[in-house]
Amino acid sequence: MEKTLEDKRWQYLSDEQISLLSDIKMQSSYRRKINQTVKFIINPLYMYALRQGFDDTDFIRKATIHGMVEELKGFYEAKGIDRDGRIKILIAGRKKMKSVYVHIPFCSSICSYCDFPKFFYRSDWVEQYLAQLKKEIETYYQFEKVKTLYIGGGTPSALNVKELKQLFSILQIFDLSECIEFTFECNIENITEEKAILLKQFGVNRISIGVETFHSKYLQFLNRHHQISEIKEKIKMLKKIGFLNINVDLIYALPNETLKEVEEDIIAFLKLDIPHISTYSLMIEPHTMLNVHNVEPIEQELDYAMYQKIEQLLRKHQFKHYEVSNFGLKGYESKHNLVYWNNWEYYGFGLGAAGYINGERYENTRNWNHYLNGNYRKEVHKLSINETIENELILGLRKLDGISLLEFEKKYHRNLKEYSMIKDLLKKGKLIEENGNIKIAERFIYISNQILYQLIGEQYE
Ligand code: SF4
Repeated sequence: MEKTLEDKRWQYLSDEQISLLSDIKMQSSYRRKINQTVKFIINPLYMYALRQGFDDTDFIRKATIHGMVEELKGFYEAKGIDRDGRIKILIAGRKKMKSVYVHIPFCSSICSYCDFPKFFYRSDWVEQYLAQLKKEIETYYQFEKVKTLYIGGGTPSALNVKELKQLFSILQIFDLSECIEFTFECNIENITEEKAILLKQFGVNRISIGVETFHSKYLQFLNRHHQISEIKEKIKMLKKIGFLNINVDLIYALPNETLKEVEEDIIAFLKLDIPHISTYSLMIEPHTMLNVHNVEPIEQELDYAMYQKIEQLLRKHQFKHYEVSNFGLKGYESKHNLVYWNNWEYYGFGLGAAGYINGERYENTRNWNHYLNGNYRKEVHKLSINETIENELILGLRKLDGISLLEFEKKYHRNLKEYSMIKDLLKKGKLIEENGNIKIAERFIYISNQILYQLIGEQYE
């Protein structure tokens, strides 16, 4: 049954609840009744929801969103139920904004270079996982407005339509009323028109796709299972459905890859006519297939030449190099990833996800059994001021615009240029001051990790 704007009353129930109401043919009698007063709306629908075994948290959340706090309080008082604490938490939460990352750890095949938390897709596992993911979100989410939402993996698009609908019904808990970016990661081989339409319906407005290379032999090497011809087709399909904000991930510095092949990849990307690309030099991580097969990285000089080629070609086509590995047309920078680089807080939900909330950084377990048993957090660490500033520098200097001196002073009441290591790097020309920002000089961006490494372990307090 469709909810309409004129009939806001139905917003107090989830789609699932409404369809239940409809199923048992209660809809018309409720419609008549709820035409009366606000109090009258809360009462019967709430009682009905409780009878169906629904937790009332979602109900309170929806009522607070619609400014019905006094009515809610009156209702609970009359019933002799103490929910004041919960209502206060929800109201306090609604004054803040947070970003959210949700991890879906299933893939239809396993790439040779991958060290992300993931499993082969199995529908029975997906079901168990989604049930647990829902519990984790309900345990920790404090009902802040969500500024950006990112569904990553794994391969979220590996889920079938029914599972995707289930996932989206879980995501309904988030207050997306002011969400500016909702990204969904997809793989070429399993994003279909039906799934893409569903994503659009549920408010996804940015798609990130693992393309990796436009050369079949390298796709094979990476154990990627799509065809080169599919890339163009799928992007075209996504555009037709209305997705204009699309990112493509690309890997370079593959064994035996030539500079010319990297150039061909960038030209092929440009022909797709999409506004964002993330480029990564191949890393051979421990416990990956590449590592097991003793694959060696390419020569550093060639890697650097490839990096320069990519930069030069993309810049020529108006792509702004705004972060070490990211390029976007104006206005298409990833707002979610900027949350990380600006050292702002965010939730991370799901197996192996990481988050930063209320001054604490946490990492979730990668262990399937632990996660399914509700032991979500592996590590929680309260950051000292020194660590917070260290993170601010290491993350912020990944952006080519660097760190605003003014913003830094407002946040930490310190002048960034007073720190001895910053002074030293400025003197050596590795950092520069420009337009009120401190940033890594462009010619040193390629070795930014070495520069950032020098900032670890300094005294910043
Ligand atoms: S699709 Fe992504 S998460 Fe899955 S195996 Fe490949 S790189 Fe890893």
